[in-house]
Amino acid sequence: MKKSQLSKLTQSVHAGSPGDPQFKGLVTPVFPSSAYDYEGVPVSLYPRYFNTPNQLAVTEKLMALENAEDGLVFSSGMAAILTALFAMLKKGDHAIFQADLYGGTLHAVITELPRFGIDYTLVDGQFPENFEKAIRPETRVIYIETPSNPTLKITDIQAVATIAHKHGIVSIIDNTFASPVNQNPIDLGIDIVAHSGTKYIGGHSDICCGAVLSTKALTKTIWESAIHFGGSLDAHTCWLVERSLKTLVLRVRQQNLNALAIAQFLATDARVNKVFYPGLISHPGHAVAKAQMPGGFGGMLSFETKSDAHVFMSKLKLIKRAVSLGGVESTVTSPARTSHVKMSPAERQAIGVNDNLVRFSVGIEETNDLINDIKQALS
Ligand SMILES: *Cc1c(COP(=O)(O)O)cnc(C)c1O
Repeated sequence: MKKSQLSKLTQSVHAGSPGDPQFKGLVTPVFPSSAYDYEGVPVSLYPRYFNTPNQLAVTEKLMALENAEDGLVFSSGMAAILTALFAMLKKGDHAIFQADLYGGTLHAVITELPRFGIDYTLVDGQFPENFEKAIRPETRVIYIETPSNPTLKITDIQAVATIAHKHGIVSIIDNTFASPVNQNPIDLGIDIVAHSGTKYIGGHSDICCGAVLSTKALTKTIWESAIHFGGSLDAHTCWLVERSLKTLVLRVRQQNLNALAIAQFLATDARVNKVFYPGLISHPGHAVAKAQMPGGFGGMLSFETKSDAHVFMSKLKLIKRAVSLGGVESTVTSPARTSHVKMSPAERQAIGVNDNLVRFSVGIEETNDLINDIKQALS
């Protein structure tokens, strides 16, 4: 799709928001109807058809921010991801996934795909040639996620998209961590972009939603499965998501700024072992990240404390301990105690998840207030 001349900041406010033409109000009204007239329309409006006014307002704003021709808004990130996968795959097919996947996606791949006769291979996403080596005649999908959770590894989006195109394979990316502000994979040749809107898009830790952005043709294919699987989002939540999206760019810019400053501070502190943030020059994926994340390196980072991370986290005052991410408030989690709790310490160590690893979702607070909180908790 041709990129708009307008900046992301302007698009986040104006794109897709119809306002209220009846009373000339600035804000899109809530259209809660689940029943619409069927005469004189190609397809009647219905929430599970993904075509009601509040769903379309969200979709169009996201399309503008991701430079996508079309899209769909879902009731969760998992609904978006699994609907896209099942729409692209059938019995006998093979798919290649980056091994460092969001835990929920990895678990879904391992448990659901084989039940439907779909085979898969997991590869280290840091080396694009791994995807090409894993291709079989029946490979239909290559799926990546960058920056990855929880150690912020970087996958070269353009390199993977090029491999997929060369072999006629559909490429999918989970763009949740970067958000549409920092990284636009469609510009780099990716076919389908998925989001957990529960994170940066919602941004206030109070909404669960998801989205898929793609071409008109692929979105139509996904839609044909989506109306069967039924993971649509209700009008009231859509209305809140539209409202959230108006400040997405502002929020993420502050999160980028805070995360970079905090990563730089942690990298020089003797009480910290390792810092994982793609914005640091020392990060192995820094050069690729710099090229493919023009908006910034994101609000997610992780680090290893030398002493017990659990004690460190208990001493934090401003920064809250919580799962999930992408909210306006800064939060920390221990992957060893949450997302990776089912693995043995040795298994965790093998994938770089040390028991003292702290995953940090940086919020929009004042940078120095956050650094001061970290300082007092480390001491
Ligand atoms: C949270 C998350 C998901 C799943 O989204 P839900 O909205 O919880 O269904 C998928 N991918 C990433 C990277 C996530 O952080």
